[in-house]
Amino acid sequence: MASFNLITDQDIIKGFCTDSSNYPGYAEALVRPKSVSEVIEIVKEANSKKIPITTIGNRSSLTGSAAALGGWILDTSQMTKILEINTKEKFAIAEPGMMLSDLKKTILEQGVFYAPDPTSEKECFFGGSIATNASGSRTFKYGSTRKYVRALEVVLASGEVLNLRKPEIEKNTFGYLPFQNMVDIFVGSEGTLGIITKIEVELLEKPENFFGGMAFFKTLNEALDFVINVRSELTHKISAITPRAIELFDCHGLNIIKPDSTFKIPEPAQAAIFFEQEYKAEEFESILNNWVSFLEKNKAIVDDTIIADVPKQQEELRELRHKVPSHLFEEGGKFTRDGGGKVSTDWSVPIKRIHEIIDYAQKLTKDARINEPVIYGHIGNGHPHYNFIAKDSAEKKQILEVVHRTCQQVVLLGGTIAAEHGIGKIKKDFVKYQYPQTVINAMKSLKYSLDPNGIMAPGNMF
Ligand SMILES: Cc1cc2nc3c(=O)[nH]c(=O)nc-3n(C[C@H](O)[C@H](O)[C@H](O)COP(=O)(O)OP(=O)(O)OC[C@H]3O[C@@H](n4cnc5c(N)ncnc54)[C@H](O)[C@@H]3O)c2cc1C
Repeated sequence: MASFNLITDQDIIKGFCTDSSNYPGYAEALVRPKSVSEVIEIVKEANSKKIPITTIGNRSSLTGSAAALGGWILDTSQMTKILEINTKEKFAIAEPGMMLSDLKKTILEQGVFYAPDPTSEKECFFGGSIATNASGSRTFKYGSTRKYVRALEVVLASGEVLNLRKPEIEKNTFGYLPFQNMVDIFVGSEGTLGIITKIEVELLEKPENFFGGMAFFKTLNEALDFVINVRSELTHKISAITPRAIELFDCHGLNIIKPDSTFKIPEPAQAAIFFEQEYKAEEFESILNNWVSFLEKNKAIVDDTIIADVPKQQEELRELRHKVPSHLFEEGGKFTRDGGGKVSTDWSVPIKRIHEIIDYAQKLTKDARINEPVIYGHIGNGHPHYNFIAKDSAEKKQILEVVHRTCQQVVLLGGTIAAEHGIGKIKKDFVKYQYPQTVINAMKSLKYSLDPNGIMAPGNMF
């Protein structure tokens, strides 16, 4: 007789069946383990009966990856312990169910810093951010979540617990490269390989100070040139500016934030770049001067540049940045009943290809006579999100055609179809553009060797 509580009341379960993509999920039961031993017990029981398990964090996924397709939903929200924050050796160990922003705040209060910063950090769990290899605006300087994960405890479908640690050795010739570092395989695995029950991450020195800013441009192309020039100077280590975030708002993004902005958005602006710059107190003026001359050289509307150097303003800038995806999420929701809704892209290209792909996508949009998308986000990493709003199913079909053709081109330009949100259930049609079938089969073989009955997050990725 199982000792865990299997919730079968559909009125409760319904509240856990979808994620931020609105993908229609369903399940027979919900389990809410409080410890790894409970997770093991649940998984053994499910595996013996071949019952699928979809692990969920806070269900902010935009790909349907947290929407169950039958079986049991395993909710990690009761596993919220912080086991250690080691400020001397700079690491933290915690369970998966804490809100990422709360964990980061606790870490920061101890004088250290956890760098990954998905825009949804107030809406996603620590575990969910690991399972999706989330990234954010500061990925420009710090890289994605994977870089910071040092060790994982994972429960496999059999109930076996793997304790995995990234190797710290400098030389190793034993085995295929991905298997030398199984931690990296589980990061971003979207619940398909096992359940992450404990995570150790690397922490950094807390940056002394930073200021946020917003620079406005008369054209989108000028804003893109600015980004390319920042990257090029950083690559050649000749830059006097060293931003940690470089994010785009196109003209539609600016229209979304205008009503809420206490900052002035200049009339001729057709695009803006949000940036953040760290500094030591004594450097403030010289860095600011460097920014002004760099912006002048790169055709920004310098007089209207916003510099936010107090926490309230910095927070407002970040809130404005967050406003774009949340507004579009709400807007899309208005049309789902008619088969429309938000269609978002997550592709990225090497930064030197950014003009090419944006011109290509713009031409496709124009030729298809569909409404222009809102283009915003992580442009510093060659990763702008395109968000289209489809009024009905016919328009959605046209938009998807444009997105498919764009993704094909993205891959030809050396990019990826999924830079941070993963594949889940709704991006599966794009997978064929990225990898040959043989490679996809090899990934599947790995999944089924760890999960022979295919009970872990069925429907995700493959
Ligand atoms: C407004 C908005 C903005 C966003 N901005 C960003 C952004 O800037 N960057 C970004 O990367 N993403 C972004 N996202 C997407 C999403 O927030 C992230 O993918 C987030 O990391 C998901 O975390 P979650 O806790 O909500 O996980 P869920 O959505 O619940 O789950 C996501 C996937 O992880 C798996 N999973 C969750 N927990 C575990 C676990 N413990 N073990 C194994 N598998 C697990 C699930 O099975 C699922 O496959 C955004 C979403 C929204 C709604």
